[in-house]
Amino acid sequence: MARRVLPLAPGAMGRAFRLYGGPENSAPTGLDHAPTTHTKPSRTMSLPQFPSAWMTEEHRTLQDSVARFFNDRWVPQSAAWREAGIMPRSTWNEAGAQGLLCLSTPAEYGGGGGDFGHDAVVIMEASRANLSGYGGGLHSAIVAPYFFRCGTDEQKQRFLPRMATGELVSAIAMTEPGTGSDLQAVRTFARRDGDHFVINGAKTFITNGQNANLIVVICKTERDAGAKGVSLLLVETDDAPGFRRGRKLDKVGLKAQDTSELFFDDVRVPAANVLGGATGRGFFQLMEQLPQERLIIALQGVAAMERALQETLAYVKQRQAFGKPLWDFQNTRFKLAEVQSTVLATRAFVDACMVSHLAGELDAARAALAKSWVSEQEGKVMDECLQLFGGYGYMMEYPIAELYVNARVQRIYGGTNEIMKELASRYM
Ligand SMILES: Cc1cc2nc3c(=O)[nH]c(=O)nc-3n(C[C@H](O)[C@H](O)[C@H](O)COP(=O)(O)OP(=O)(O)OC[C@H]3O[C@@H](n4cnc5c(N)ncnc54)[C@H](O)[C@@H]3O)c2cc1C
Repeated sequence: MARRVLPLAPGAMGRAFRLYGGPENSAPTGLDHAPTTHTKPSRTMSLPQFPSAWMTEEHRTLQDSVARFFNDRWVPQSAAWREAGIMPRSTWNEAGAQGLLCLSTPAEYGGGGGDFGHDAVVIMEASRANLSGYGGGLHSAIVAPYFFRCGTDEQKQRFLPRMATGELVSAIAMTEPGTGSDLQAVRTFARRDGDHFVINGAKTFITNGQNANLIVVICKTERDAGAKGVSLLLVETDDAPGFRRGRKLDKVGLKAQDTSELFFDDVRVPAANVLGGATGRGFFQLMEQLPQERLIIALQGVAAMERALQETLAYVKQRQAFGKPLWDFQNTRFKLAEVQSTVLATRAFVDACMVSHLAGELDAARAALAKSWVSEQEGKVMDECLQLFGGYGYMMEYPIAELYVNARVQRIYGGTNEIMKELASRYM
């Protein structure tokens, strides 16, 4: 099932992603750089002048290709998806065919054989493109790593190749109506019954909840054993009597994301579907993976802020008030100089975290601070940028309005910012 294709350049390692050529008049990517010319200083401050230290030439080539793919193929459809509250199931197969899924999954399990940076590039470009519903980042860089880092060899073989093609769409179900921050308090229970476990419980706020057909469910397998009573069970929903999807939730932002309620009433799964093959490891598996989830939120924040700055600069330079462009007012220039500083500082912090993470050295405290601090800066940046659009900033047809509403949840999901600060303060 190995998918190693398309060597990028002589000497470069083959990767499974396909470079998107696009039509001749491909939409601008917003990246503002040709991958090979990013080091030359110029008068205009733009991304090329501040290249991310963790990005290789291969990451940048992928970035250009993915940005073009999103802008050409998906951005034109995204208004319809926001209206529908979901991205169509076919987008998962399209992403799989394009080689955008599971880029950091080892090639022997059908993945891209790349590093986390490859998945990070796709995640950042989805955020920059303002798709408002792309769940591929969670699938590729949050759920797939549970399999290739914690799964048994049989589980890796059984699930990962189908995740890489989009045949399986994954979700991770931790949060319940009664508990979110306090994961040890989950009530969903998996009772052993011969060669099976029988799951009962309810989950809510689950990303990809309508499209998913492979769900990692956080369950208690022992009621009074604290962290040691938690296990991760793998539920294939295509053949799971008792499994039911609830409402697709109506959210403030991320309107094209099928975030949903899920119900489990006597759902039987084979004992072979306990992640890693043994019960009682779930909480420790979660703790191992959560720093990467938090870094992903920070990466999304950086890309969204960069897009907001780009949109706002373009707007204030053409919009006139009192006979001159908004840019000519000192307040506008000062505000945007402050925003630019914030964007650069957050990117420098996140880049440093990425360098550590790619070397296997990112600690939980720094990941928690990156998630909380970047998402707080994101909220402020979106607010300042929206203000400069005046009334137009409040209209959903302007990307800045969508960036603004999408930013709010960044302080909540993946562990609230209050929990992030609690966690980080334990190491101070
Ligand atoms: C769009 C969206 C997508 C999501 N996707 C997923 C998903 O795919 N899978 C999944 O499992 N979950 C998902 N979630 C759930 C998300 O992770 C939780 O909402 C989050 O962890 C907070 O849990 P809660 O909502 O139960 O809030 P609560 O835990 O009830 O917290 C409420 C408030 O109390 C504060 N608080 C709680 N405990 C403390 C404390 N010890 N000290 C100080 N303050 C505290 C919190 O910070 C918060 O401000 C998603 C949520 C949203 C909105």
